Amino acid sequence: MAYLAEQIREVRQRIADRRAAAEEAAENRRREVEEKSPEIQKIDASLAKTAKKIFEISTGNRDGVREKIEELRRENAELLAERRAILEVLGYPADYTEIRYTCPICQDTGYDGTKTCACMKRELTLEGFRASGIGHLIEKQSFENFSLDYYRSSKEDYALMEQTLAAAKEYAENVPPQYGNLLMMGGTGLGKTHLSTAIARRVIERGYEVRYESVQNVIAAYEHDRFRSGREGDDEESRVYLDAELLILDDLGTELVNSFSISALYHLLNTRINREKPTVVSTNLMQEELQAKYADRIFSRLLGEYRILLFQGMNVRYQKK
Ligand SMILES: [Zn+2]
Repeated sequence: MAYLAEQIREVRQRIADRRAAAEEAAENRRREVEEKSPEIQKIDASLAKTAKKIFEISTGNRDGVREKIEELRRENAELLAERRAILEVLGYPADYTEIRYTCPICQDTGYDGTKTCACMKRELTLEGFRASGIGHLIEKQSFENFSLDYYRSSKEDYALMEQTLAAAKEYAENVPPQYGNLLMMGGTGLGKTHLSTAIARRVIERGYEVRYESVQNVIAAYEHDRFRSGREGDDEESRVYLDAELLILDDLGTELVNSFSISALYHLLNTRINREKPTVVSTNLMQEELQAKYADRIFSRLLGEYRILLFQGMNVRYQKK
């Protein structure tokens, strides 16, 4: 969750920067206009004293306070009308010196009353996409553009993929906070990456933190941690994978398998299971290959705690060409 807090901080800062930039730009436009028109300069100086005048009225003689404030309001309205007229004569739009916020709803504060503004939610989602580790794929691959047409050549494949798609969709709508793990199994080019990206996208949109990583990089992070020996400012890299609200591990089986990689992988999967943190694993290997490649403890962990989604059909990548 520390990770999420950091994202929120970054997004807040970005919105605050927008607000400051909008105010500065408006201030520059006001100066530009005042340079061209001494009358506007005078009007602005007078309008700037409004708060001071109201203060004086309400602290002075209490007689006719309301009338005096009403009078001031009328004067200000006249000044503003005059100001608009001058701007128009100078060829500027009447609202030229107004602040132009990126988001008019929250005026670049990120909050609409006490609620988080839609613009901030959108930024948080984008921040989640960026932090997930999938890069641009996540902007292109969704459930909406996952086509079952590629699997039509076989009735059996089609029916199976229909089930797989439905299960992936249901998963993405509920996990987290529900706990559950998926093992996506099937050959290259059958849509595993597309569906795991679609899951990541949907879960991020629902407001959860997702990490998407290849097994190879996760093991590299464990190696980094093993040799870091407490160097200052050198964080444990495996932590983000242990902590992520949803972890998607791509391409189990393409990494170099040795006793270190097996124990790293076991540590990750087992810790997440014990903490009831959901994980999605995809692999090109079939059951027997998995069994042969990994120690029994990993294999039994995966099969016991993971729901298996099978991918079957003709290679989608060849069909697209
Ligand atoms: Zn907003």
